[in-house]
Amino acid sequence: MKAMVLNELCRLDREKSPLKCTELPCPAPSENEVLVKISACAVCHTELDEIEGRTPPPQLPIVLGHQAVGRIVQTGGNVSKLSVGERVGIAWIYSACGKCQFCREGNENLCEQFRATGRDVNGGYAEYMTVPDEFAFVIPVVFSDVEAAPLLCAGAIGYRSLRLSGLRDGQNLGLTGFGASGHLVLKMVRHRYPHTKVFVFVRGEPEKVFSRELGAVWAGDMEEVSPERLHCIIDTTPVWKPVVEALKNLMPGGRLVVNAIRKEEVDKEYLLKLDYPAHLWLEKEIKSVANVGRRDVREFLELAAEIPIKPEIEEFELADANRALIELKERKIRGAKVLRIESEH
Ligand SMILES: [Zn+2]
Ligand SMILES: [Zn+2]
Repeated sequence: MKAMVLNELCRLDREKSPLKCTELPCPAPSENEVLVKISACAVCHTELDEIEGRTPPPQLPIVLGHQAVGRIVQTGGNVSKLSVGERVGIAWIYSACGKCQFCREGNENLCEQFRATGRDVNGGYAEYMTVPDEFAFVIPVVFSDVEAAPLLCAGAIGYRSLRLSGLRDGQNLGLTGFGASGHLVLKMVRHRYPHTKVFVFVRGEPEKVFSRELGAVWAGDMEEVSPERLHCIIDTTPVWKPVVEALKNLMPGGRLVVNAIRKEEVDKEYLLKLDYPAHLWLEKEIKSVANVGRRDVREFLELAAEIPIKPEIEEFELADANRALIELKERKIRGAKVLRIESEH
């Protein structure tokens, strides 16, 4: 099978073709696994982090990609819930132990043996991949393959952020940053919490206008004071300033959820502006979000189908994965980038 393979870490400002088109043996499904013939795989910022070593794969070479959609073409032993021909999606969570306390409580994303698709095991930038049947998600019929792929990461993580925020209908929600995940959260909130007012903190004027179009009642700069106090805030920025500035807008007992895999070091000294009485006193909370559990992917796909949420798509061929990655790095973004994979076999 054809796959786009990462053989060594590199810097994308120097190396424009980090992945090599390679012929690999087609994997065979083991016990409790299914073999999926992939038709679409969306491209995520996390791939840039993997290639440049901020989230390095433990072993190389590796096939990247954790937003894959395709059909099951073979099942290993002991697979009962899924069958050949079914369309499934594969997300960042590839497997977990299933036995520890976190797994038993449905927080398998916190499991010590958590493995990530396209980092710890080969992912979706290929014609085929295997996945444990318990970690393959049936895709609702309203979505085409390419539409479903980008929902599997930003949308599902946005959903978990919203869930962890503890927001109830009618409470005020703040969003700091307004990218892929933020705008999906706003759409979910409009649908599920119709009486909630959303306040958006973002730098760019186009993002402010866009957020108001999608139903935000207010959009301002990161350091502004929101016209009303907020019960919950979800932060989707990679830096610290929005965290510190957002806390002053929280109500007593409010919660700030940080939805970012990493925070950059560039403005870390901003944390020194943290003022205990203004920012934390009165039982304000800060909580991070660590990617997704299965429940988040499942529930988000259902919700996305119900709303419906249909992402803007820009399609690339599998062999053009490098171009898609470089454009993402250079912020040439016109909708979610999706690799369309058509195999000859
Ligand atoms: Zn992702
Ligand atoms: Zn576990």
